[in-house]
Amino acid sequence: MQKQTKIIATIGPSTDSEEKIEELIGLGVNVFRFNFKHSDLEWHSERIDRVKRIAKKLNSSIATLLDLQGPEVRLSLPFDKIVIEIGEKVLVSKALGISEKGISFNPPDIISSLRQGQKVSADDGLFQFIVRIENGKTYLQSLSSGILLNKKTINIANLDFDFPVLHDGDRIGLKLAKEKEIDFVALSFVRSTKDIAYLKKEMKKLNLKASIVAKIETPKAILDIENIVAQSDVIMIARGDLGVELSLEEVPFYQKQIIRDCIQKGIPVITATQMLESMTQRPIPTRAEVSDVANAVYDFTDSVMLSGETASGKYPIQAVSIMTKVVSYSENKNRVPDIRNVFSYELSDTSQMVCDSAFNLYKVLKIKKETVKGFLIFTESGKTARMLSRYRPHVPIFAFCPKDDLVRKLSLSYGVMPIYQDSLDKKSEITKSDIEKALTKIKDANLCKKGDNFIALHGDHWTSKSGTSTIRVVTA
Ligand code: PEP
Repeated sequence: MQKQTKIIATIGPSTDSEEKIEELIGLGVNVFRFNFKHSDLEWHSERIDRVKRIAKKLNSSIATLLDLQGPEVRLSLPFDKIVIEIGEKVLVSKALGISEKGISFNPPDIISSLRQGQKVSADDGLFQFIVRIENGKTYLQSLSSGILLNKKTINIANLDFDFPVLHDGDRIGLKLAKEKEIDFVALSFVRSTKDIAYLKKEMKKLNLKASIVAKIETPKAILDIENIVAQSDVIMIARGDLGVELSLEEVPFYQKQIIRDCIQKGIPVITATQMLESMTQRPIPTRAEVSDVANAVYDFTDSVMLSGETASGKYPIQAVSIMTKVVSYSENKNRVPDIRNVFSYELSDTSQMVCDSAFNLYKVLKIKKETVKGFLIFTESGKTARMLSRYRPHVPIFAFCPKDDLVRKLSLSYGVMPIYQDSLDKKSEITKSDIEKALTKIKDANLCKKGDNFIALHGDHWTSKSGTSTIRVVTA
């Protein structure tokens, strides 16, 4: 059986060739992430086209995710990197000359908000500074040494600055997302549901139908997490910045809590950052990193994400390969008899109740040793797939959809194998022939054999939005 936990790989110079993209898809990548904070519009535009071209060639439902900067501060240098010594005072200036040693920020207006003695960190906390204001000039005095790369995130303690949700670069990103039919738009540094509502409004103006990924990386978002989960399409636990904005020891606690909240509500959740960090430099991960990936799977995350490992690391292929092995092994060991003893699910509408009943049927058939090869669902909005996925069944959920974009969006959800079926969109009812066609597709793809049983779920009146109402056992 194919792995059920999904993998997101960030694309970058280490992985942007046609050969590498194809290899990564073959090794188990489901979604490619384009980090809009790095590289320019043209770079992303070309790579998005490349990924889409290869996915089409392989007939693979690969999704694309564009990660916007949002209300966060980034280093903005006229050069690629800056060498920093311990104790050194580096000038902070809005307009830096190419030959001037100094630091600037994006957005630049933030600089006038810096206060004497304030703590500033860069690159997920790897560099620490104290603000020094002398003779009207602002400096960052470094407590660390090393090479700081341009565009790394800056975290400023107790910052009093009214950030806009989107800055100019993000608006360009949204236009690109519309033009390229991007499937997921991620917003960094979400502070509350207001940020999500604002992004939704801006996306509506562009008629951009992408799903919204809320990146959880601030204490404010943690305080409003229940509402943010309810208002977002997907949640990303962005542990890099979360580990700077909170104390490090708090991150695992909130990671587990957020995964739980999302599963209970049927919102896909991504566990992100530093999962196999040492593989940026070495071909083999640390045992602790392997445990980190496995533990996210044991907590039932929908997806795991690679950032620098695949974007700029030396061993991107090995990183995806090991990640696939770890998630496949761990999900096979993570078989609880009834997940409803672990999570509590709200059953507030017919679709949710029907999914619960379908899971009961699956459980009973399993106890009677009658093999169920998978679920076979027909979904127009993706809701049935997500509501069934939250039970984390041990068999695939084959989700037949009449829309291409939905097929791609479902590729982020645990255990869901989305499949395009074009004959569906003209139908008012799912007929025996639709089910037979679906079974034939699964058989032709060698995912089952004649005589295998499936639990089929669909609505009585397709496209009437009345929700899933029918369950039947069907045989291939
Ligand atoms: C993170 O901080 O964990 C994260 C995913 O965000 P970014 O890579 O954009 O800094």
